[in-house]
Amino acid sequence: MNIVMFGPPGSGKGTQAKILEVKRGLPQLSTGDMLRAAIAAGTELGKKCREIMDAGELVPDDVVIGIIAERYDLPDCDKGAVFDGFPRTIPQARALDSMLKMRSRKIDLVIELKVNDAVLIDRVKQRIKESGGVGRADDTPETLQNRLTVYYQNTAPLLEYYKRQGKLVTVDGMAPIEAVTTAIAAIIDQAERKG
Ligand code: ADP
Repeated sequence: MNIVMFGPPGSGKGTQAKILEVKRGLPQLSTGDMLRAAIAAGTELGKKCREIMDAGELVPDDVVIGIIAERYDLPDCDKGAVFDGFPRTIPQARALDSMLKMRSRKIDLVIELKVNDAVLIDRVKQRIKESGGVGRADDTPETLQNRLTVYYQNTAPLLEYYKRQGKLVTVDGMAPIEAVTTAIAAIIDQAERKG
């Protein structure tokens, strides 16, 4: 099964994707984590992306499409994967659909975590406080504001794209973590029963 975890920054996509990885053996493919790893390793790709990410802008579509395609072909994605932070634009969503089609696969479910802005801002502020100033470079109040703007402009239109495909399911992302996990598990179980 291939699942897209969808939602604004701070909505809990990563938390839930990690849980799915452990519980269902579906690898979490987080483009944000992959790009941060490239920056930490000092690769050419990392150098190219650092400033863009620090500003809360999107790295070019071809960059993330390339790293996802490469990652998806590793054997641990045989049974599918959970996409976290990808796709973030319509061209990325189209590229993902055609990449999967070429492999006789498809996106089965898109799970949207719905969280309002005030809660998102509080969560990221909390994350900043807990990291004691050594956390993510893009976790600053100014950059967060820009990440939200970019989300509403470029990424939120994907909701309509996936709704039209009949794949979108929305979960209350403001519920406690365990309640969100339970809701997601029920959605996946139901989709599996339907086949
Ligand atoms: P968030 O907590 O904002 O969801 P991520 O870890 O998913 O953060 O991504 C952090 C940054 O990495 C983004 O703001 C963006 O610069 C870059 N990035 C991650 N995924 C993508 C993508 N699919 N397309 C373009 N840029 C991306």
